[in-house]
Amino acid sequence: MTGTDSLKNIIELECQKGYTDKAVIGGLDKYLHKQAGEIRRSLVQGLNEVNMRELIPQLINSFDELNLANSNYGSCSVDERKRWITNVCSWLDKLERAKEGTLVPERTQDGLSSLPYKERKKKRATAIVKPSQKQGEGLDSPITVIRGIAPSVASKFAKLNVRTVQDLLYFFPRRYVDYSRRKSISELVEGEEQTIIGTIWQARVATLGRRKGTEAIVGDETGNIRVVWFNQPYLAKSFRTNARIVISGTVSEFKRRKVFESPEWELLGDKELVHTGRLVPVYPLTQGLYPRQVRKWTKEAVDGHVWQLDDFLPSEIKTRCQLLDLSTAIAQIHYPDDQAMAERAKGRLAFDELFLLQLGVLARKRDWQEGQPGNAFHIDQEVISRFLHCLPFTLTQAQERVLQEILTDLKQAKAMSRLLQGEVGSGKTVIATLALLIAAANDYQGALMAPTEVLAEQHYTNICSYLSQISTQEHALRLYPGQDSESGENSPASPRRETVRCYIGFLSKSLTIALLTGSLSNNIKERLHDKIRQGEIDIVIGTHALIQKEVEFNKLGLAVIDEQHRFGVLQRSALRQKGFTPHVLVMTATPIPRTMALTLYGDLDLSVIDELPPGRQVVKTKWLEPQDREKAYRFLHRQVSNGRQAFVICPLIEESEVLEAKAATTEYERLSQEVFTDLELGLLHGQMSGSEKEEVMRHFRAGELDILVSTSVVEVGIDVPRASVMMVEGAERFGLSQLHQFRGRVGRGKEQSYCLLMPEKLSPEARERLRLMENVHNGFALAEKDLELRGPGEFFGTHQSGLPDLKLAKLTDLHSLELARQEAITLFQSDPNLKKAEHQPLRQQLSRAWAGGAEWS
Ligand code: ADP
Ligand code: MG
Repeated sequence: MTGTDSLKNIIELECQKGYTDKAVIGGLDKYLHKQAGEIRRSLVQGLNEVNMRELIPQLINSFDELNLANSNYGSCSVDERKRWITNVCSWLDKLERAKEGTLVPERTQDGLSSLPYKERKKKRATAIVKPSQKQGEGLDSPITVIRGIAPSVASKFAKLNVRTVQDLLYFFPRRYVDYSRRKSISELVEGEEQTIIGTIWQARVATLGRRKGTEAIVGDETGNIRVVWFNQPYLAKSFRTNARIVISGTVSEFKRRKVFESPEWELLGDKELVHTGRLVPVYPLTQGLYPRQVRKWTKEAVDGHVWQLDDFLPSEIKTRCQLLDLSTAIAQIHYPDDQAMAERAKGRLAFDELFLLQLGVLARKRDWQEGQPGNAFHIDQEVISRFLHCLPFTLTQAQERVLQEILTDLKQAKAMSRLLQGEVGSGKTVIATLALLIAAANDYQGALMAPTEVLAEQHYTNICSYLSQISTQEHALRLYPGQDSESGENSPASPRRETVRCYIGFLSKSLTIALLTGSLSNNIKERLHDKIRQGEIDIVIGTHALIQKEVEFNKLGLAVIDEQHRFGVLQRSALRQKGFTPHVLVMTATPIPRTMALTLYGDLDLSVIDELPPGRQVVKTKWLEPQDREKAYRFLHRQVSNGRQAFVICPLIEESEVLEAKAATTEYERLSQEVFTDLELGLLHGQMSGSEKEEVMRHFRAGELDILVSTSVVEVGIDVPRASVMMVEGAERFGLSQLHQFRGRVGRGKEQSYCLLMPEKLSPEARERLRLMENVHNGFALAEKDLELRGPGEFFGTHQSGLPDLKLAKLTDLHSLELARQEAITLFQSDPNLKKAEHQPLRQQLSRAWAGGAEWS
């Protein structure tokens, strides 16, 4: 029964230590207080066991009389302690006899309990298990304090990241084998996992096949069965004739007789069953660790130490969410009473993981928002409607909604921290432009950071064009050394023009927009830095160049960051630090499943544009058989002849970017020399320098290249309106989200566009995934599917490292995640800094969980 073995150990040790209350750290009272509930609960559970049913009420009664939970042992005299211990022992004896079937189901005078403890022990040699010598060790002790774990074993455990007792308690089984179905021998059915309890009639070393093993005949009142263990002749010695044994395993038939082959076994003693007759845990193992040993040790850890766990969850949360307390959960996840308890244990421990994760991300958000006051913008409806009025289209409903969410944030004297998600082409840039305009109308500067120069230029062009639509005059300001002449002859689309000035009539002022990238000459950069510092530039668009330390803003009020997954939290905060707590808007075209977003970007509020502007074409997607390659090439060729451009993506080689680049180069050479000899091809891979990549992209965008052969680096949101074909080689190696990103590179213009998926090997799963690509065009749906099929690690690659460990929680479980998040929010409302005394254990647990995990995203 859960908890009683541990109680026995402690009591025995306490006797050995001369009733000095030293058996456990912190004294017996605390331990007993915790253990009492556990024991009582398992007694009540015992009502379900046929052989115990009648005795249980009696046992519960006498247990309640002991009043373990409030024993006050610490303040008793030695004599009182002795008396008290005698009572406890007497009760434990009763329990033993009940289990053995020798306790009569009425209250009888207990002859044993009046004897001194030591003598009773002699009489009932098996009643008290030998205590662990180091029972008093704390949870942070090395696992070698567990009986039987030698340093050599500890080093094997270390490979599984189990070093301390606490680690061992948190070393969860992967699954359970259900040996709880007890049968009599005559009821045994072939092929099922079952358990019998019987008597060993005979056990001997036998030759089984060609090797020695053990053979035994075990019987109960309904019959006998042969049990064999291959290759384990030494077992025979442990099997005394007439000993009671529990056998769990699958029954097979040999020469028309039933037999257990190498089943789990356990001699029926006084201890709780560990290997048989129950749900038996199956642990992840490493070389040199064996299931039986590991179970013995986890059991030892649970019995000896689980009560030491401090339950850090506030009790209201446990009540509200109907969660088990921590020590019960840990005990039950290892040795569950039944499947339902295993689930509840898992539920509690998974909740802990998600809850700590959410507390961590929310703390970060709070630090940002409450660290310093933000800038409340005045929102002038006039400015908004004038801007929208000048657009050649009306906003989609999703854009409207997201705009309102952003405006509501900008009005607060609390910095906005918002993630704006929307597929490529869903119209994020318009929204960002409007937000930047509002910052300018409030006399603040705005900045937009993109991951590459080409993308920064693209944004610059688009934003200039939006603003020039509302401008009544437009001036370009060329920034070359010594030459500050204003001239209007360049079109805003020219990437070489670093600043543009627009007069915005309804603001009664001119806005200066600048492009700041790393490849500008130092002179120009310095001039731009000066102007940014002096506040002469209102909106600056750029790359990482924006977060260099030379860049100082006069009054940065809004920072927009595009394509978030290329930047980390660190860059996010670097840009934040440039301002006076600027509002931050992060934009991403990678659809992130909501659960992922809540986890990885839990410090950001979420806005989603889940609707494309009307009339968008769907990229026709088709997967081909390897033999269709020639046909595909002819198709590409025809498209190019009609004035379009195409991408060819080379297979992903995850292990090595160098190999990947090499393969892409080979493919590029093959295609240029053998297949598309009359066309202009370009090559793009991850081993090229930033500026080389930029150069190729620029050529491709300008239409000087017909086909771009590339590794997956092309993923980022580049806009090439003439590109109409995306051919992906080795398509089965990419995730659905990534394929969807590739597909988003085409279909940007008016022409029908195509995505050809070319698998190398087609497993049934790959076929299934590629078929999804053909039929599903919603990025979020694909992302959810991806997360489900490949798990979060794959989904974000290395980007997600540093998150606290999630052993049990599933990131696909939106319900649990939201529950945990809600509880974390509520807790922060009542105790924002976890200052209250009752929240101290939680606070400690939080810093434990997040240790070393600050640099994530
Ligand atoms: P994203 O940044 O999300 O990829 P953009 O803001 O660049 O999308 O918009 C893509 C294209 O769609 C641009 O040419 C833009 O002018 C246009 N667009 C944006 N919103 C709408 C809309 N509501 N209706 C029609 N066209 C739109
Ligand atoms: Mg974009």
